[in-house]
Amino acid sequence: MNARVIALRSPADGSALGEVPITSETEVREASRRAEATYRSGVWSRLAPRDRAAVLLHLADLMQRDLTLLARLDCEDAGKPITECLQNDVPSSIESIRWFAEAVDKQYGRTSTAGGDVLAFTEREPFGVVAAILPWNYPLAMAAWKVGPALAAGNSLILKPADATPRSVLHLAALAAEAGLPDGVLQVLPGDGPTTGAALADDPIIGALSFTGSTATGRSILTASAHSNLKRVSLEMGGKSPQILMDDALAFGDELIDGMVESAFLTSGQNCTAGSRVLVHESIHDAVVERFAAAAARLRVGHPADPATQLGPVIDARSAERIVGAIDQSRHEGATVVTGGKEVDVAPGGHYLSPTVLTGIAPDAEITQQELFGPVVTIQSFRTRAEAIEHANDIPFGLAASVWTTRLDDALVLARGVEAGLISVGEYSEGDLTVPFGGWKQSGFGGAEKSLRAFEQWTREKSVWIRHRGA
Ligand code: NAD
Repeated sequence: MNARVIALRSPADGSALGEVPITSETEVREASRRAEATYRSGVWSRLAPRDRAAVLLHLADLMQRDLTLLARLDCEDAGKPITECLQNDVPSSIESIRWFAEAVDKQYGRTSTAGGDVLAFTEREPFGVVAAILPWNYPLAMAAWKVGPALAAGNSLILKPADATPRSVLHLAALAAEAGLPDGVLQVLPGDGPTTGAALADDPIIGALSFTGSTATGRSILTASAHSNLKRVSLEMGGKSPQILMDDALAFGDELIDGMVESAFLTSGQNCTAGSRVLVHESIHDAVVERFAAAAARLRVGHPADPATQLGPVIDARSAERIVGAIDQSRHEGATVVTGGKEVDVAPGGHYLSPTVLTGIAPDAEITQQELFGPVVTIQSFRTRAEAIEHANDIPFGLAASVWTTRLDDALVLARGVEAGLISVGEYSEGDLTVPFGGWKQSGFGGAEKSLRAFEQWTREKSVWIRHRGA
């Protein structure tokens, strides 16, 4: 195999999906110089925000036109169920581009109270050349969260899709060109982490880099920034999010079980906010285990191209091995596999795992601490609200949590007590575009996605001080 090429393989059945080049360090440097020249030319950066918005709104329309194709590309590359791509990933990506385009000319700087013969104000300006490094689990959606605010703000953006999932992002770049985005404003560089990703993290021109992916990679990007030009780094990383069920949670009926299932098994659990740790009040433990495991067992595991499929394959053989290994280790440590725990034979060349529910886990077992990124949920019980909070917080991550209770006191104390950037009460949700999205602890660093806060990742503040003379 040519070392400078990534051969794309379907996670569904191992079939060949084509290949993309691995962008070399030299090519990354050329791309950042090109982005800098484009930025300085003003062809995009000096357009009025409304004119930039018009191009991005046109891009959103073109994405809508090509919705089916974009959904198929993510379904094929990432092995995500086609129904999820058609109904969730691509529509939400289009919405992101629209939302940030519509928001960009509705923000203002501030005037200070310096007073006297001074006028002092602040405004936010783009960084110039910026980059984003993307994960494979939401290829287009994660691109859209970054492209929307980065381009609306006037930057020139270099995007590196994940190694295995570049095709929807490459198509997005083609649509941006069709929408009238000037050449060099958005460059998509396919490649791997050690070559292309590392070169971006080291690049001396890139002023800000936004990363979504694993905590280990996030750490290395931060180090690279420190050793190069101290580019502003924002990291959205892994999680091990709890779903906390108080003793009255069964009052939510089917909504509880549906919410738990969605939280745990969306994208086969390969979701950063996956609620992979259920903490349930001891009084309803057995009833919840029974109903949740039955619902998990009913989920349809199948080929991602089948519209009826709810769980597709995990991304690759290594991932399947890691997940099954963790389940086996838990079994050895005394856990009970209530449902699932094995590979399902859907298509040769693909790795499909049945939705898995484990009970009888020791509080400090490794499986409760590490992000597994697969369809595996542990259920542990607690006696008091304080104990629930203690368990919930006893991990290095702090991305999300869901809380199920009908009592306001419990809802608020848990929402405030759990150390995570996103808490949903009475449902599993990441909120919509108006709500900031960002992790705490080792799940997030340096900035939020979505909402107006996202612009802070892509702009820097300037204070301007003007003294006037005379009366
Ligand atoms: P990953 O860290 O393996 O890869 C992410 C990206 O980083 C890829 O594009 C990869 O090529 C690149 N990369 C790898 N090594 C690099 C290096 N040394 N320097 C620069 N770039 C490098 O993550 P993944 O497996 O693609 O994605 C899964 C992870 O992403 C999970 O941990 C998940 O929780 C996380 N995630 C987080 C969010 C969030 O918003 N918090 C959203 C989606 C996924």
